Amino acid sequence: MIRTARVCLALVVFAAPAAAACGKEGSPPVKGPAADRLPEYRVAQGFRLPDSPTWKRAEKRGYFVVGAKEDQPYLGQRDPATGTYSGFDIEIAKMMSASLGLAPGTVHFRTIASANRETALQNGQIDYYVGTYTINAMRKKLVGFAGPYYMAGQSLLVRRNEHGINGPQDLDGKRVCSAAGSTPYQRIQREYPKAVLVAYDTYSVCVDNLLTYQVDAVTTDDAILIGYAAKAPRELEVVGRPFSKEPYGIGVPRGDNALRFALDDALEAREKNGDWKKAYEATLGLSGVPAPTPPAIDRYPAS
Ligand code: GLU
Repeated sequence: MIRTARVCLALVVFAAPAAAACGKEGSPPVKGPAADRLPEYRVAQGFRLPDSPTWKRAEKRGYFVVGAKEDQPYLGQRDPATGTYSGFDIEIAKMMSASLGLAPGTVHFRTIASANRETALQNGQIDYYVGTYTINAMRKKLVGFAGPYYMAGQSLLVRRNEHGINGPQDLDGKRVCSAAGSTPYQRIQREYPKAVLVAYDTYSVCVDNLLTYQVDAVTTDDAILIGYAAKAPRELEVVGRPFSKEPYGIGVPRGDNALRFALDDALEAREKNGDWKKAYEATLGLSGVPAPTPPAIDRYPAS
């Protein structure tokens, strides 16, 4: 009974149409990003950043190459028919390009999995990375981070018929899936060693495994899990409270401090002029969660 109440509540939180579907047959429709409500990002005219090797390369090329995720609803999703990327992270990537002087429509996105982000930035495969990328001390030894631009928290996704898992304390002996190289994977390994960890490249494969009873739970950031739950609302639900802080940053090549500081400035400006909020509302905000106040930018010293 309590469980049912919670499921309905979760759906109400997720989207208004879901409320009507609660207790009835048929899944609520899952809305994609509201393209007509996306802001147009003003392109900085005559912008130059000669101290940034990454910017100089991109400017010569005529566009930025940005790493992203392609299977995370509302955050970073690629339409297989058109190849178009959409979501909150994608909007952040586009507004950054505009602030750095290159039209947002020119950005070339490249899908990079969690475990490959540092290498992609180190070997110049991408100019910057926007994809639910938690800033932490270990990663800062390998790459730079502008931001944070959003605060997420680790949570759990389970099948609705699974009644034994309500938080990470219930994971002993359970099969828990996460993405290789991710901070949620590392936290379970470190703090809940009795959980049976299963790793794949992407969370969408974890979700497939959850639906087919290969694993008992999927763990990663709440922002990501809410999107998957919305795709299969009759089968899946997010349970418990977030049990970590995951500040999302824009990954840049380590040592390109000029680029990092320019992105910090750009994020601050886009938060101030309302573009951040508009982008949120047209993407992640479709989950029904009102726009939070973005976290303070951490402009750490040049490294
Ligand atoms: N934010 C976490 C991380 O950066 C999980 C999401 C992801 O794997 O992208 O590891």
